[in-house]
Amino acid sequence: MSKNISKKISIFIVICLLLIGVSTKFGFTYANDYELIKNEDIYLNTITDTMYNLSTEISKGPSKSTGKKAYITIDDGPSKYTDDIINTLNKHNAKATFFMIDRNMKLYPNQVKNIIENGNTPGFHSVSHDIHKLYKTNKSAKEEFDINRQTLLEVAGIESSVVRLPYGSKPYTPHKCYEELVEAGYKMWDWDIDTEDWKVSSDQALENVKLYSKGKDNIVALMHEKKQTAKSLDRILRYLSEEGYEFVPIDESETPQNFWLKNFK
Ligand SMILES: [Zn+2]
Repeated sequence: MSKNISKKISIFIVICLLLIGVSTKFGFTYANDYELIKNEDIYLNTITDTMYNLSTEISKGPSKSTGKKAYITIDDGPSKYTDDIINTLNKHNAKATFFMIDRNMKLYPNQVKNIIENGNTPGFHSVSHDIHKLYKTNKSAKEEFDINRQTLLEVAGIESSVVRLPYGSKPYTPHKCYEELVEAGYKMWDWDIDTEDWKVSSDQALENVKLYSKGKDNIVALMHEKKQTAKSLDRILRYLSEEGYEFVPIDESETPQNFWLKNFK
């Protein structure tokens, strides 16, 4: 009999314990769900806000960007065509990079300043423009660019480390000369689109751009300060702009694209 009672008490206690346990569990579950809902709300709101902000950003305009970049690079100046070229660049909201020869910087100091004041990058294109002199010793090319650097400092009060070797870095530049330039901190840029503007008609220069830019999201176009370039530049920029390219000046801090690194995109 007493055994029976104690058995019943035991069952009662077990049921009580189970009930407490279940209710506590429900309590926790409820609290957790509540937390979950609250967090989910915050999460969803954040996502909604982000999406909204993103969509308004997009509709604002400038971020319509296709991500396609064109580096317009102009060699051998400055010259009597520089101001004209800058006006055309500005018309297309384009910035370019000018690789300048020492004597021309001295002959056209106002054009050097005009290049810089309009947001373009000044770069160097040697003193001699002669591969026999440039590669006479391992240090000759580097020394020519040091002179360029000093000239720019005198003319415009700023420095640059962006360079282009006359006729391109390959196949002419010996490895030792290349190493000297890299060690001195010069950023050597070549090109992947030769407009051939110095020897062909402005129509043909445009055709070359169309042909060689096909399927590319990043181009480095080689041009020169020539009368026909000033003439064809407007049409070349219009074409590239319609193809979704943004015209960017070379930034000293970025990795140069050249024939040594073979990193044209
Ligand atoms: Zn040149």
